[in-house]
Amino acid sequence: LLEMKHIKKSFDGLEVLKDISLTVEEGEVLAIIGPSGSGKSTLLRCATNLEKEDAGEIRYEGQFGLVFQNFNLFPHYSVLKNITDAPIRVQKRKKDEVYAEARELLKKMGLQDKEEAYPCQLSGGQQQRVSIARALAMNPKILFFDEPTSALDPELTGEILKVIKDLAAEHMTMVIVTHEMNFAKNVADHIIFMDKGVIAEQGTPEEVFGSDNARMQEFLGKLN
Ligand code: ATP
Ligand code: MG
Repeated sequence: LLEMKHIKKSFDGLEVLKDISLTVEEGEVLAIIGPSGSGKSTLLRCATNLEKEDAGEIRYEGQFGLVFQNFNLFPHYSVLKNITDAPIRVQKRKKDEVYAEARELLKKMGLQDKEEAYPCQLSGGQQQRVSIARALAMNPKILFFDEPTSALDPELTGEILKVIKDLAAEHMTMVIVTHEMNFAKNVADHIIFMDKGVIAEQGTPEEVFGSDNARMQEFLGKLN
């Protein structure tokens, strides 16, 4: 579904991505972990065309959705309008159909009574659920998350991780940058450990967390 080959990206002479290659298969959940500044967000931004790579090749099939750390909802739009705007205006889909689907998504996110609310009237966890619903409303083949819980309190983090876990159970293809190691361990099929712009370790959760890679051990040690 997604293939990145030999991706390189520099900012002002600083090489942030050094020859990154990866593939994501349909139904797969890929977690990207690694220290701050290692290039995780830049990798996601290149994958989703928010940033243009300097070299390499990116191929994917179909539409993708993106969920950010800070929700990025339109503050002056209601919940329902946040979700329906792009499908109607960008994808030119029928209004009735889009609204019906949006209401289904809100129900699934446990927000059926919030469709008229504005983002500022919602908790962080609720805002993030709206932003996941908004991404899903585009019927993406693949969903990208950049630290979807790092702006949330621990109790709200759990509700978002649950939503992502449910999507994984429905075989949604996802790429998730996260600092939640237990979550990565439990939900991901494949894990990439980024360090200083390279993939320093990758494999199944067992392989990556069991690895004796010194940088990986140091990274895990710092978290505990
Ligand atoms: P974190 O865990 O803190 O989110 P990260 O792994 O996502 O870190 P990136 O945001 O990809 O790291 O940043 C990698 C490096 O690239 C950092 O040194 C950062 O300062 C630099 N960088 C990222 N975006 C830009 C930009 N638009 N202009 C200049 N430098 C940038
Ligand atoms: Mg980042």
